[in-house]
Amino acid sequence: MDNREMFESLGIKPEVYDFCEEQLRALEDRFEEIDAIAEYNQLKVIKAMQDAQVSEAHLYGTTGYGYDDIGRDTLERVYANVFGTEDALVRSQIICGTHALATALFANTRPGDEILCPVGKPYDTLEEVIGIRPSVGSLAEYGVTYRQVDLLPGSVFDYEGIKAAINERTRLVEIQRSKGYATRDTFSPAKIGELISFIKGIKPDVICMVDNCYGEFVQREEPTAFGADMVIGSLIKNPGGGLAPIGGYIAGTKECIERCAVRLTSPGLGKEVGPSLDTNKLFYQGLFMAPTITAGAEKGAIFAAKVFEKLGFSCHPAADAERYDIIQAITLGSEEAVVAFAQGIQAAAPVDSFVTPYPDDMPGYDSKVIMAAGAFVQGSSIELSADGPIKEPYNIYFQGGLTWYHAKLGIMMAVEKMYEKGLVKF
Ligand SMILES: *Cc1c(COP(=O)(O)O)cnc(C)c1O
Repeated sequence: MDNREMFESLGIKPEVYDFCEEQLRALEDRFEEIDAIAEYNQLKVIKAMQDAQVSEAHLYGTTGYGYDDIGRDTLERVYANVFGTEDALVRSQIICGTHALATALFANTRPGDEILCPVGKPYDTLEEVIGIRPSVGSLAEYGVTYRQVDLLPGSVFDYEGIKAAINERTRLVEIQRSKGYATRDTFSPAKIGELISFIKGIKPDVICMVDNCYGEFVQREEPTAFGADMVIGSLIKNPGGGLAPIGGYIAGTKECIERCAVRLTSPGLGKEVGPSLDTNKLFYQGLFMAPTITAGAEKGAIFAAKVFEKLGFSCHPAADAERYDIIQAITLGSEEAVVAFAQGIQAAAPVDSFVTPYPDDMPGYDSKVIMAAGAFVQGSSIELSADGPIKEPYNIYFQGGLTWYHAKLGIMMAVEKMYEKGLVKF
């Protein structure tokens, strides 16, 4: 059996295979560039582990208070090395990206301070953390205020607006790298650096934190190389390498990390407590795998954009655009197409491939949503998944894939399901 027949045995018609393979041929140079970045980041991670003298003893965990958890402490040194920061907090007690971001926000502000978002509205879940949407326990309840400066058309920073918004109470600036569910561009670390320089030029002591979710290892450099005081992300995404079952990280200056640590545990305890339980080995191995996994996911995103642009759909980012995260949005234009795409992703999964997803109401969403995922780690968003709100303009958001080959199958299967419904033709 050759590869084409193997794909056919999984349900991909030869004409779908041939069409997709043809698009793939145009991506060779692009994939080579991605491989070069993955190699660089793989070496960066290995060097970070060697410099921290990671040893077998570090792969085991502690329970209870977690005093003298050398695996955890060394892992935090490794993260600090990878992100080029003074210190890091990498914990299984951090539930998810939102928790890590909330920890950093609460830790580094005091009543009377103001938070500034200079790139428009932050990620949806932060609205309740900050209190943009009234919520029990929000920063607003503690007297921390919030200001936002929207981007100008074309995802351009509104420097004048930002300058006018900075005042004597501005304590912390939150910059989101990935576009999330917004329609703006994702920012490169260098672009974020320009914004940070501008802000620090006006107020040098302001803390600049970057929501780095989905951006890790997509480029050679992280935002901390361009002046960010803290970068924050989820281990269920890129840096967990598909192996971390939970967790988040905050890497940054010594002062910022200390404040985060005492906020996460307790004043007086800080980084000294927090058992790693059985997570150390998974966190180390996941980080080791992360550069290649991120590269595979990015290849999948580019391949999807290439295929769907050719089929006449608008893709964000465009297939030939530079990438700073692994998210791909495709405007499919109809409910039928969104459903067929998601069902294709599901049908290509190693786990739960026989399940058929349908749109349904979800807490926190104002429309029905269809979600496709068949993951080894429940809730993982670095594994191949897709979700689409059932509303205009009928976008599907597609991300992940622990291997490029799985991402490729998923995209072909999405095309296949749409082809079967007569929604695309070659
Ligand atoms: C995923 C994500 C978060 C945090 O989400 P969690 O589901 O809490 O991990 C925050 N910001 C961005 C841009 C994200 O993609």
